[in-house]
Amino acid sequence: MLFNPRTYDPAQFDEPTRRLLRATVDWFESRGKKALIDTYIDRAWYADFLEFAAREGLFAEFLTPSAADPDKRWDTARIAELNEILGFYGLGYWYTWQVTILGLGPVWQSENEAVRARAAKLLAEGHVMAFGLSERTHGADIYSTDMILTPDGEGGFTATGSKYYIGNGNVAGLVSVFGRRSDVEGPEGYVFFAADSRHEAYHLVKNVVNAQMYVSEFRLEDYPVRAEDVLHTGQAAFDAALNTVNVGKFNLCTASVGICEHAMYEAVTHAHNRVLYGRKVTDFPHVRRELTDAYARLVAMKLFSARAVDYFRTASPEDRRYLLFNPMTKMKVTTEGEKVIDLMWDVIAAKGFEADTYFDKAAKDIRGLPKLEGTVHVNLALILKFMGNYLFAPADYAPVPTRLDAADDAFLFRQGPARGLGAIRFHDWRAPYDRHAQLANVARFREQADGFCELLLKHAPSKEQQADLDFLLEIGQLFALIVYGQLVLEQAELTGLDADVLDQIFDALVRDFSAHATELHGKASTTEEQAAWALANVRRPVADAERAAKVWARVEALSGSYEMQP
Ligand SMILES: Cc1cc2nc3c(=O)[nH]c(=O)nc-3n(C[C@H](O)[C@H](O)[C@H](O)COP(=O)(O)OP(=O)(O)OC[C@H]3O[C@@H](n4cnc5c(N)ncnc54)[C@H](O)[C@@H]3O)c2cc1C
Repeated sequence: MLFNPRTYDPAQFDEPTRRLLRATVDWFESRGKKALIDTYIDRAWYADFLEFAAREGLFAEFLTPSAADPDKRWDTARIAELNEILGFYGLGYWYTWQVTILGLGPVWQSENEAVRARAAKLLAEGHVMAFGLSERTHGADIYSTDMILTPDGEGGFTATGSKYYIGNGNVAGLVSVFGRRSDVEGPEGYVFFAADSRHEAYHLVKNVVNAQMYVSEFRLEDYPVRAEDVLHTGQAAFDAALNTVNVGKFNLCTASVGICEHAMYEAVTHAHNRVLYGRKVTDFPHVRRELTDAYARLVAMKLFSARAVDYFRTASPEDRRYLLFNPMTKMKVTTEGEKVIDLMWDVIAAKGFEADTYFDKAAKDIRGLPKLEGTVHVNLALILKFMGNYLFAPADYAPVPTRLDAADDAFLFRQGPARGLGAIRFHDWRAPYDRHAQLANVARFREQADGFCELLLKHAPSKEQQADLDFLLEIGQLFALIVYGQLVLEQAELTGLDADVLDQIFDALVRDFSAHATELHGKASTTEEQAAWALANVRRPVADAERAAKVWARVEALSGSYEMQP
């Protein structure tokens, strides 16, 4: 189930893809663990990795859509695969690639042929890109940009202002920068333009983080923005920002999976070989329980992410279901990643602090993913917009198959206006639950999911509660579990997942639902009826010692099955 560099053969992809993925794994393995660890600790910029990627044409091959080069394609399935590999070796390697994706978003969505050609050429030459949206004082409030463009009277502008938290801002060949015109009020004044970090009016201020990756503050001083540098104007610039984040934030789930996988090999191997009081640490029942839980949660992260790829790739103006599954990958899979690391760290304790492990880096870096590309709150608030239609108004759609085909996901760069989310319809969430009703914990979770519908119908949040984001976010957490379970089941079916592992996953989901129901019970604004509902819907998972033992055997088998080349 887990990515293992020792046995890795991405046979599901075409030959050039396979070769590049394998070459990436081989590069990390032959460079070795000592270099990986030392450069992390020294916060050394990973020029050698970028040289490798440039030499192999890795980013150019994976990140140039067919519209820019008919011999290449933007293929979310293989992009997801590379996320996992890069996360497996470290967040920093993933991040430089991730912000290149973000930087390319406004370019590939633009009708400006000259910049598109420039970006394709820069990629082919091995450059990375950057995405200049965030500013120090404005956080998620991107409406309030202080990057000001003043018309120069010749169809262009001069841009002045600062950007903060901009990855690759130290080297990017192209930086997509978001700002607003000095002479136009409101949304019509937004502009997205392409800047060059090597230009003399581009001033790199500093790296704002204490890490190997470079997350820059930069300042533009009268930076000349020529007409041919303008990517988008007005509302389209704002939509391009949101649609870019839609494409980009999808990458966080598989990065999180990769981080957890590497950490799991280390954790299980350590615990299984450590002997205390004359017995293996993994003989303790609580240790087995924690590692089994971590494993089941990690498998669920993989299943959900993989299935979300299919909806992403099948998206069209008529099928925008990906707009729910995408923030789900972002807030749910990445927070599950935190739980997986927490569970394992509980077991390996002091070992998880040691400098020469991957684990201590994973323990820090896994925390970042839920916070980037919109926080958990922002994504939960987004997910809530879909709840009514998802639960109560299913629609007919043709079945979505597994999408590993070598297609170009062109729709991602013509997603159109970012509005109208509340009108999006979904296929019937109950169908995969019904098909797995024979599994005890799926059936039990289904009772909770039906109970949730009852809560919304009989004790719907009042007007005041709908304005109370603290209350609503808890509702969002309960809802998110139902969506999570649905795609996990769909993917389990498509891949023939072992029934014991699937039941173990739903053992965790039942407990999670109960935990969130208890949280809801404790909220100040929860009514008596809602509180009574919450307690009535706390359920115990169905225990099964034989099932747990079978899943544990899978976890145990991970011990010693992978250690990075020294
Ligand atoms: C390591 C790192 C790398 C980054 N790389 C880039 C990059 O390359 N390019 C780039 O443009 N940006 C980048 N960012 C910025 C990142 O996207 C911001 O952190 C993010 O937009 C949130 O801003 P903030 O962290 O300042 O939180 P704030 O926006 O200040 O939020 C504060 C709190 O308010 C809550 N909140 C805000 N809005 C809402 C809402 N609408 N609904 C509910 N709750 C809300 C948040 O959840 C949070 O708890 C990076 C950040 C980091 C730390």
